[in-house]
Amino acid sequence: MKDSRRNFIKKTTVAGLLTFIPGKNLFANFNIINRNTDKMKLTFKPYTLELKHVFTIATNSRKTTPVMLTKIEYDNFVGYGEASMPPYLGESHETAGKFLSKVDLSNFKDPFDMENILAYVDSIESGNPAAKASIDIALHDLIGKILKAPLYKIWGYDKTKAPFTSYTIGIDTAEVVKQKVREADEYKIIKVKLGRENDKEMIETIRSVTDKPITIDANQGWTDKEKALDMIYWLKERGIKFIEQAMPKQNIDDNAWLTERSPLPTFGDESVQRLPDVIKAHGVYSGINIKLMKCTGLREANKMLNLARSLGMQVMMGCMTETSCAISAASQIAPMVDWADLDGALLIRNDPFEGTKVIDGKVTLTDASGIGLTKVDKNVI
Ligand code: MG
Repeated sequence: MKDSRRNFIKKTTVAGLLTFIPGKNLFANFNIINRNTDKMKLTFKPYTLELKHVFTIATNSRKTTPVMLTKIEYDNFVGYGEASMPPYLGESHETAGKFLSKVDLSNFKDPFDMENILAYVDSIESGNPAAKASIDIALHDLIGKILKAPLYKIWGYDKTKAPFTSYTIGIDTAEVVKQKVREADEYKIIKVKLGRENDKEMIETIRSVTDKPITIDANQGWTDKEKALDMIYWLKERGIKFIEQAMPKQNIDDNAWLTERSPLPTFGDESVQRLPDVIKAHGVYSGINIKLMKCTGLREANKMLNLARSLGMQVMMGCMTETSCAISAASQIAPMVDWADLDGALLIRNDPFEGTKVIDGKVTLTDASGIGLTKVDKNVI
């Protein structure tokens, strides 16, 4: 009785989804979904991103980023995923490989059984958010391909509403900063990493070459709330739009104090990892920065988006240095956010995929199924 009710709900939900998808073979898709004879097969492979510039933020510098690429095969469909693991966040090729080796999807017969599949993946071990995201992304890509539609369309989002993305300028010497700003000519919003001694000098250097809107990421680098507030007033006069993670994440009262008085919106990034953190961020920041690599993927990202909205908070979608795989995945949610910081694939030399592009500074989604990806390097996974 319970099972037949569940099947009824599942079929109704799938039929409901299909109603919104243009195309002739809706019933053919429906049959594929309900065949349920194949097993899902997960494969993963390490890859190292080469960055175009040495990338410096308040806490460290680096010129490569380790990523783990994944694919899930099912019934002649293949979904791709990615875990991007900047070293300071604690995941690595080793930890992701170890985690993904424990994932056994063979017990699940239906990739649409996402809530259960991802709850199982999350329960294997705590932490490992990027490795978990690599499965979530591959699974979403897979179901989009089975349904023959991009995810943004399945979710009913309007891709033309995807915002401009900011382009990040790391901390560097005045000459290099000017050079980077000139290279960023195509982008409409500049994101600047602050949180060191030379913050004002960085802004004055950038303002000497451009009058574009600027957003600030202090990466917890400001420790004195009064000084931080003075700085924000100074920044507002120079066309800055908002401040991301001004103060250390554990200084909750200071961050709340600052948000209450700040003439610019404040965003929590390091302090907002997963869904329960959104509630904690309410009253502490004006908005949250959602990243797939923090929150275990698209399914939880959508929940965070909806929760933040219901709390009246702003939302930005961010990224790590990533290939077009994870960026294309994140961009499926971009039509629903206030600010996008999805420049991760623009910062690397060896992107093995093509997907969402930045055209005239705007996040521009493709109409390809799933996360909208094309594999350029055939052997990469
Ligand atoms: Mg940040």
